[in-house]
Amino acid sequence: MKIIDDKYICELLEKYANPDSNHINEIIEKAKEAKGVSLEDAAMLINANKEQDLEKLFDTAKEIKNKIYGKRVVLFTPLYVSNYCTNDCLYCGFRVNNKGMKRVSLTQNEITEEVIAILEQGHKRVLMLMGEHPKNASLDYFIECINTVYSAKDSKGNSIQRINVEIEPLSAEEFQKLKDIPIGTYTVFQETYNKKTYEQVHLSGIKTDYNWRLEVMHRALNNGLHDVGIGALFGLYDYRFEVLGLLSHAMNLDKEFNIGPHTISVPRLQYAHNAPLSAITKYAVSDIDFKKIIAVLRLAVPYTGMILSTRERAELRMELLDLGISQISSGSRTNPGGYKQAFNEVDSSQFNLNDGRTSGEIIENIIDLGYIPSFCTSCYRIGRVGEKFMQIAKKGDIKLFCQQNALTTLNEYLNDYANENVRKKGKQLIQNELKTTPTDKSLV
Ligand code: SAM
Ligand code: SF4
Repeated sequence: MKIIDDKYICELLEKYANPDSNHINEIIEKAKEAKGVSLEDAAMLINANKEQDLEKLFDTAKEIKNKIYGKRVVLFTPLYVSNYCTNDCLYCGFRVNNKGMKRVSLTQNEITEEVIAILEQGHKRVLMLMGEHPKNASLDYFIECINTVYSAKDSKGNSIQRINVEIEPLSAEEFQKLKDIPIGTYTVFQETYNKKTYEQVHLSGIKTDYNWRLEVMHRALNNGLHDVGIGALFGLYDYRFEVLGLLSHAMNLDKEFNIGPHTISVPRLQYAHNAPLSAITKYAVSDIDFKKIIAVLRLAVPYTGMILSTRERAELRMELLDLGISQISSGSRTNPGGYKQAFNEVDSSQFNLNDGRTSGEIIENIIDLGYIPSFCTSCYRIGRVGEKFMQIAKKGDIKLFCQQNALTTLNEYLNDYANENVRKKGKQLIQNELKTTPTDKSLV
């Protein structure tokens, strides 16, 4: 199975190292149809560097984002259940050789406490994560944690409605076990699509096997999972290669299963305590290149949700909503137990975060920008997943469902959790949006 052709990617990047503006313009005009672009066209776009080319690229990304997703922004928060790990990823604070890390696997009671703290921020959707450890972070433990998360209720009687998961690449047998557990998207980041770099930054443990990781989404979709998420950790290798790697991966999944990635995540390397590569990398990605990455992905796979975490600074995150980001995390902690404890516990966190706003503040900022914070989990709950979801998303019709669901779930949030000021602003936004939002009870 050849998922990515690294030789071909390198050839494309070299061939289009200095793309001509007329050519870029042609690709951008074609991309406005929101049907995606070829790998070759993406290679040209990711090499664009002239100011006027970048401006056009950003404007078009904004146009496509608006056409496919409208104004909604889906919110979630990560829930780390264990930081035990047997791998040695040079960039991660959880690496086995970080002897200063305080290791913990949360008990089911501690998980319930975390979930209640998360629900009280207004969240209905979590991304559950853990390190890779056969004993202290096993799949059976993780499944028990999932059940605990769904059963926890806050004082308003609300509970988590969708759990996405981001854990190590599972085997076919393990997916057979996971497929009967109600999860949303299964996500694994390839970290880097460049095999040589991959081998240099993953020193020991199961994660050293590049192909085992690369082929995980094929195993997942062949073994009963419906929605998968991919990503690359930007900063490990040349970002242009990673973008074409991500797109090759997406195109391959789409070709083999008719199911492209449900989401693409764009984590950028952050400082992590006792993780040497996180402090020095010659492939650090600048803000302008980061914007370009997001814009090119938006043009190339318009139907795929794009996720941005609190690794990024507040102002930049808000700016990137325009360029294509459709889901963001808020109020996040990357240390197990962090929602009940103090913020940024260096001795148990995975990496540093740069957006310290509370969920309430983020929601207020989103509303101020005219976007609609959405807590919708409808697709997953009514089985609009996998190929069914893709057919609607590819036609650009997902907005019909999402817009009114976003308004309904925002209204619930405002009633249950917002302060007076945010409630007023949010209700006003809903009133304005209802004037132009087609409402149809069959579209939920
Ligand atoms: N342990 C599993 C794995 O590695 O697949 C689950 C995911 S891990 C908890 C979450 C992700 O965090 C990793 O895939 C990696 O991309 C990202 N990460 C690790 N160290 C990071 C750092 N210093 N800065 C930003 N992201 C980082
Ligand atoms: Fe472990 Fe994942 Fe961190 Fe690697 S990235 S050390 S596998 S938690």
